[in-house]
Amino acid sequence: QLSQRLETVAGFIPEGSRLADIGSDHAYLPCVLANRKVITFAIAGEVVKGPFESAKEQIIASELEGTVQARLGDGLAVIAPADNITVVTICGMGGDLISKILDSGNKEQKLNTAKRLVLQPNNGERKLRIWLLSHGYTIIDETILEENEKIYEVIVAEKADETEAYSELEYTFGRYLLKEKNDAFRKKWLSEKDKYQYILNSLQKANKDLHEKEKQIMNKIKEISEVLG
Ligand code: SAM
Repeated sequence: QLSQRLETVAGFIPEGSRLADIGSDHAYLPCVLANRKVITFAIAGEVVKGPFESAKEQIIASELEGTVQARLGDGLAVIAPADNITVVTICGMGGDLISKILDSGNKEQKLNTAKRLVLQPNNGERKLRIWLLSHGYTIIDETILEENEKIYEVIVAEKADETEAYSELEYTFGRYLLKEKNDAFRKKWLSEKDKYQYILNSLQKANKDLHEKEKQIMNKIKEISEVLG
């Protein structure tokens, strides 16, 4: 019933969780998890009226009015302390937007009770990892998968007492993904390398001298080549 992408996210939600799914759209994820009795309560947060209405309809159609609540609001503003949220999911958005949502929610202390964040950025993973590690989180797991010709990363983070040291490579490629280097990982980074190579070729055609920008891109290509081996 869920896409493989959201099924992967669902796999990281512990039993008995109280979930806030931010940017929930149709509220598929919270409804399926409530039907499976994995979660005991969920907020389906939406900032846009149309998807918020779809979430409400889905909750009614699934007869889950007692367990899943659609709430209209920006990011984590839909969470109240009494909700006692234990897991926050933010999926299907850019990493930049996810970082912004986490940042403003963190300042408003909306993440106080949430032990775990399960995030599925469509891009900007490096920035998101930097945000997490500089805000008292540790990344406990990561997955990369391909579905319908698209590659998705899922990042699972939990509050940590101690800050972890991450290398530049780990921020860019992901500590766990780097260890595994599965097919989806190789495909993503080969494609990134091709994109950089294309940009480099275009720049080299335009200029005779090697400029700073070209050097940066060459370093990126070298870095990816070394990781892929
Ligand atoms: N999470 C679902 C998924 O992964 O399939 C839906 C992803 S959909 C592409 C992104 C949703 O996030 C849209 O419905 C959009 O309205 C919502 N959204 C974007 N910015 C948001 C914000 N600041 N707060 C709450 N929802 C937001």
